[in-house]
Amino acid sequence: MTSEKKRGYNKKRMKQIRRQRRLKRRLLGAGILILSGVCIFLLGKSVGRQEEMQILTKEEKVKNYTYNQGGQEEEYDLDGILTVREILLVNKDNPLPEDYEVTLLTLPDGVNRAAEEAYEPLCDMLKAGQKEGLSFEICSSYRSVERQQELLDEDINTLMRQGYSYKEAYEEVTKETMPPGYSEHSTGLAFDIVSLGYQILDAGQEKTKENIWLQSHCAEYGFILRYPKGKEDITAINYESWHFRYVGKEAAAYIMENGITLEEYLEL
Ligand SMILES: [Zn+2]
Repeated sequence: MTSEKKRGYNKKRMKQIRRQRRLKRRLLGAGILILSGVCIFLLGKSVGRQEEMQILTKEEKVKNYTYNQGGQEEEYDLDGILTVREILLVNKDNPLPEDYEVTLLTLPDGVNRAAEEAYEPLCDMLKAGQKEGLSFEICSSYRSVERQQELLDEDINTLMRQGYSYKEAYEEVTKETMPPGYSEHSTGLAFDIVSLGYQILDAGQEKTKENIWLQSHCAEYGFILRYPKGKEDITAINYESWHFRYVGKEAAAYIMENGITLEEYLEL
């Protein structure tokens, strides 16, 4: 090999080596680029997941939110949006809307539950009565549609055991117990309140000093006597001196002052 040829060969070889090196660098560059891409993608995903987890945790917190009233921890029983309307009419002709949602709060007795907006007015009313030396017992409050069905079935079965036909028993029972979906108790706004010393739901209840006080003061707290005496043809429910319904102060004042029913008020 002549020196010139050798130089030519060397040049060629050098070119080849340089080309190979360039290729290697490019491949390495591309590799690094792809790797960083994957890393960024994975990092992003994990951050996203973390954010998602944080949102879920917040939702859980809202769900498990505890209501603090007078140092006592109360549970927020149901999740869901509050859509309670204070003057919602629920009677034999007007069932509870299918999409009705209510936020319920457990009352200080630890048993009964009330719709969020009725909670404080109810507590205030009972406390005011207690200051006058009265003792109340809430014997019925929020009732789910399922529970209403159970109560109705129990009452119908009792009458059927006494010889009533199903139809007769149903008609008799629904004079006082509403069919499921038609009870005001499923709104969370209705409460049966009796005297602690007389817990019977009969004509004697209105003679107790607790009931006399409730009937004359309930409107101050936004409550009405829902099934008054002499209005049975309008309410389609026998007189119930113990059943109080939250409608808000404005409606309550008008209804109680004028001795009318919620049905009549809504027709005005
Ligand atoms: Zn009732």
